[in-house]
Amino acid sequence: MLSDIAFDKLFIGGEWVDPIDGGVRDSIDPATGQHWTQVAYGGAKDIDRAVAAARTAFEGPWRKMPPWERAALMRKFADLYATQVDALARIESQDNGRAIRESRGDIGLHANYYHWFASLADKLGGRTIPMDDSVHAFTTRHPVGVVGAITPWNVPMMAAAWKLGPALAAGCTVVLKPAESTPASSLALAKLFEEAGFPAGVVNIVPGDGAVAGARLVAHPDVAKISFTGEGSTAKTILKTGADTLTRCTFELGGKAPHIIFADADLENALNAATGSAWALCGQSCALGSRVLVERPIYDKVVEAFRERAGRVRVGMPLDPATHMGPQAHAQQLDKTLSYVAIGQNEGAELVAGGKRIDRDGLSGGYFVEPTVFASVNSGMRIAQEEIFGPVAALIPFEGEEEAIAIANSTPYGLASGLWTGDTGRAHRVAARIEAGMVWVNTYRYIRWSTPYGGVKQSGWGRENGIEGLEPFLETKTTIIST
Ligand code: NAD
Repeated sequence: MLSDIAFDKLFIGGEWVDPIDGGVRDSIDPATGQHWTQVAYGGAKDIDRAVAAARTAFEGPWRKMPPWERAALMRKFADLYATQVDALARIESQDNGRAIRESRGDIGLHANYYHWFASLADKLGGRTIPMDDSVHAFTTRHPVGVVGAITPWNVPMMAAAWKLGPALAAGCTVVLKPAESTPASSLALAKLFEEAGFPAGVVNIVPGDGAVAGARLVAHPDVAKISFTGEGSTAKTILKTGADTLTRCTFELGGKAPHIIFADADLENALNAATGSAWALCGQSCALGSRVLVERPIYDKVVEAFRERAGRVRVGMPLDPATHMGPQAHAQQLDKTLSYVAIGQNEGAELVAGGKRIDRDGLSGGYFVEPTVFASVNSGMRIAQEEIFGPVAALIPFEGEEEAIAIANSTPYGLASGLWTGDTGRAHRVAARIEAGMVWVNTYRYIRWSTPYGGVKQSGWGRENGIEGLEPFLETKTTIIST
């Protein structure tokens, strides 16, 4: 169904349309640096069309449809999605360079997200509130309206599932604006909504520039809520742009997750998780344990294990099933990662593995970089404070629980964290004091549709997934009746 799809039109109001004030441009394959397909992008007028279609669908068929029928449509879509995992994974890997084995694994889970949220669509009841005998008070839940979903380039399908699932279950309609450099898989998604028989305008998909299409979506008076995943600096711009309309926002932002390994941990398991997490998605994921905090007695051993395992990572073409790690998703991200390698060296950290662009046969045209390990890092260094978003692990030694907690909490971020210890009491003590939306203990990056996900501090506002992930798409109305 998706194998021969063209990406040169926008999906608005149930139709494939040419952009009015956007156009069509090359999408670059980061493994070759060459164009691989052409993708439509919209301008402000296209966003206006999409919001109008979403508003009409919200007032019309979607609002009138009983929730169990909405759920049935979502389930039909989820079943179709499950049949297209391979095709979606290929599109996403070609667009953002993620190793196909990772894309398949991740995208292979998404149908579950849509199914899980579908199962909640007809359970969004309110409650009754005790008053005096002559007054009856109760609450009802209502969709907020048209949602603007703005997604990043690293995980377009995952971000879409985390937003569309709860928004549609709540009864909202959506305009999805994927990132500039990786819009193709989101347009493929539109084919599946079309095939599933969603009413026109319930889901609209308009790639476009953040500063143009994204900004218009945020400022549009008919958009009730923005669900955004991306950088903190963009979130701050969105807040300013949406100030005049007081547009509600939830933000899933960056991270600098501490991965804390105590000397009493099961070291083999801890190393598997810590090294895997350092280089997954070529380092381009918000929850990766980019800071590895290691208790002093095992520090040298962990540094050596990282150095040795970095050399074993199979870097290669994303569509090769044997590849562990593909290229960085675009040229600016490659430059950013390499600039942080230089920053780390200038700061006095010890480069023990990697650090260079890969220039060997077959890979020299792409944005490939070596898995990189810095040792002798202290937590004040920029490589330990700032989100690099490349395959760069910063190994920081610590002595005891108090220092581990202090280092873990020393950045402006608070998204994810990992903790490895054989002591259950310590696990509880430390987990309770880490400033993060998520703490994994003796496991890492294990998440499901039912587990709330999100950050504290500058890593975000609100949660996605779980029951909590539905809340931002709902309003509560209180009705008080004198009898
Ligand atoms: P980004 O902020 O540059 O872009 C994200 C989206 O915002 C894109 O669609 C972009 O076009 C749009 N945008 C840009 N300017 C805009 C504006 N002025 N108004 C409205 N929209 C605008 O982020 P990115 O570089 O695509 O993604 C990487 C970032 O995303 C990293 O910081 C990463 O940690 C974060 N991220 C967070 C999570 C999470 O769940 N917390 C998940 C994935 C990625």
